[in-house]
Amino acid sequence: MGNNMELDYEMFCYQCEQTANQKGCTKLGVCGKTPEVANLQDLLIFQIKGISCYARPLIEKGTPMDKSVVSFIENVLFTTLTNVNFDAEVHVELLRESQRIKEELRAYAGAPSQPTLHATYDLPQTKTEMLRDAPIAGIMYDKSLDPDIRSLRQTVLYGLKGISAYGHQARELGYYSDEADDFYILALEALTDDRLSVEELIRLTMRTGEMAIEVMKKLDEANTTIYQNPAPQKVNVHLKKGVKEKGYTSRKPAWDATPARQYVRSGALRRARRTGFIGIIASVAGTAVRTVPRTRLSENEKKRLVVHITKK
Ligand code: SF4
Repeated sequence: MGNNMELDYEMFCYQCEQTANQKGCTKLGVCGKTPEVANLQDLLIFQIKGISCYARPLIEKGTPMDKSVVSFIENVLFTTLTNVNFDAEVHVELLRESQRIKEELRAYAGAPSQPTLHATYDLPQTKTEMLRDAPIAGIMYDKSLDPDIRSLRQTVLYGLKGISAYGHQARELGYYSDEADDFYILALEALTDDRLSVEELIRLTMRTGEMAIEVMKKLDEANTTIYQNPAPQKVNVHLKKGVKEKGYTSRKPAWDATPARQYVRSGALRRARRTGFIGIIASVAGTAVRTVPRTRLSENEKKRLVVHITKK
């Protein structure tokens, strides 16, 4: 596939297995992502790379990175993951926030690790202007980039997005890994560094995998500390009268209709099979179905009832 700018695609996204023709979504995401959202997402990733260009020298000097900055970067990575968020206005707000953070770090850190456009770019005010600028952040924008370098950079970026999904959840529970937090920044900055060779980017890819394991450990610690280790529990396995609900489309309430069997045959049966009530279905086949007397239903059940099935 050629360059998206060359071919004037409205968007370019190939971050998930649903991607169109296994090449890239270029008009509208198979997932429903619009070109507007895809382009805002490109610009958001561009911005957190720029933030990382200012944050990296601070980390290297031993200055602890403000967790609100890390949390913002993690949230951006998670927001732009496949189909997590398609709300353009949320992306615009995150973009504005990214510029505020970038300016703060610029004032604090001074020079970026390297003065690439990611660091020096300043976001405009309006969404229209942001969309006008978004092509500079497109995956294929740099036409001269070595395809292996581009692929490795994207692989690391998608790894970071995966890490963010776990990290975001762990942070919600009050857990995080300082090592992984620094890694978000170090890796994003590395993706702007034209001096890195294929071999160095392969090493970074491997390191991304290690960080994914580190974050999963942290999430496991959070879950098992707060919710305990999963263990077998006793549950009630006795079948009872059931009410089948969702997925049934009759316009008439079940109690107004003639045989419930009719309902079972016309959809509830399929649903019941899907939901695993095989024993009950066998009973249905053996005429253990009956119409439910309206008087036996609560008002709530009357609203939701599709068919009432009992064992023979
Ligand atoms: S996330 Fe959506 S737009 Fe991107 S490749 Fe997957 S289906 Fe296409």
